[in-house]
Amino acid sequence: MEGMTIRLRNLRKAYGRTEAVAGVDLDIADGEFFSMLGPSGSGKTTVLRMIAGFEPPTAGTIELAGSDVTRLAPFERDVHTVFQDYALFPHMTLEQNVAYSLKIRKVPKAARLEQARDALARVQLEGLGDRRPSQLSGGQRQRVALARALVGRPKVLLLDEPLGALDLKLREQMQVELKAIQREVGITFVFVTHDQEEALTMSDRIAVFNKGRVEQVGTPAEIYERPATPFVAGFVGTSNLLTGRAAEQVVGTAGTYSIRPEKIRVLKEPAAVGTPDHSTAVGTVAEAVYLGDATRFLVDLDAGGRLTALQQNLETSSDDVAAYRGSRVGLQWHNRHNFLVPEAKQTT
Ligand code: ADP
Ligand code: MG
Repeated sequence: MEGMTIRLRNLRKAYGRTEAVAGVDLDIADGEFFSMLGPSGSGKTTVLRMIAGFEPPTAGTIELAGSDVTRLAPFERDVHTVFQDYALFPHMTLEQNVAYSLKIRKVPKAARLEQARDALARVQLEGLGDRRPSQLSGGQRQRVALARALVGRPKVLLLDEPLGALDLKLREQMQVELKAIQREVGITFVFVTHDQEEALTMSDRIAVFNKGRVEQVGTPAEIYERPATPFVAGFVGTSNLLTGRAAEQVVGTAGTYSIRPEKIRVLKEPAAVGTPDHSTAVGTVAEAVYLGDATRFLVDLDAGGRLTALQQNLETSSDDVAAYRGSRVGLQWHNRHNFLVPEAKQTT
């Protein structure tokens, strides 16, 4: 890949006997929106802190724009970090908060105020430069933190769960804004999150972390449609696996298959009408949950195992849904949605 901004090779970090990061190799391209997704404790923050220079690696190397920065101090790297608890200076105005790093770098006053105003405009806080942080909502404070990060025009912005403290509505709105800002300024974003939906909606590519290792790197569609390991299949989206005897009966071959819930049709007739291109199964509805726009069915298969099916509520109402519980149904989906999950990677 050309124009590579970040290259991690065999990156490791041990805290005593805990291997927080157990050998990570990643290539993040120039201008990419790259997410590190994984459960709590999987090593995402530690990798980010090593890229920023706050934490020396136990082993491995970090390259930024072609040069080895593994042993450089944070201020010697062309990166900026935005943390979840975006600490703003409470006694300063927004403009002063944003211009602060420029002041440290001795940028003349007129120039730094102009750049601060530009940065505030970019995050849609135009004209609010004289306010103080206490006069802002959570989402606005978050945007000030972002403006502060953008004003120095770093090549790389590192963001550690920057939306984690916001409520759902605001978070979804900020996801869209953040993505738009990134596209506009064209700098590389390395975005840490434990929220799979957030990663899927915002990223060009995603690295899925588990226990200090990367299980898969790919586009959102690749990660979602073709999970490389059972862990990825379970962590990204609803875990919906057919294994053992159930796989042999329903799919026709042994293995572990992942089927995404929205691909499965629920039929009121429990007769499994097989066609050459479709897989079918018969079972009993253990639970039917009305979600407003859709209904989620948990179906215990006669062949063994349980599948989740998600149906759009084209005609269904909440009253109909209750009637499904305990009833016998047929499930049907196209064979191309049977994705054979590779065996778990051998850990060394
Ligand atoms: P994540 O950001 O994915 O939640 P972290 O990188 O924060 O994960 O942590 C990875 C592992 O390293 C965890 O087991 C955590 O407890 C441990 N860890 C992180 N920082 C420290 C530290 N400063 N001292 C000791 N253990 C740490
Ligand atoms: Mg973390």
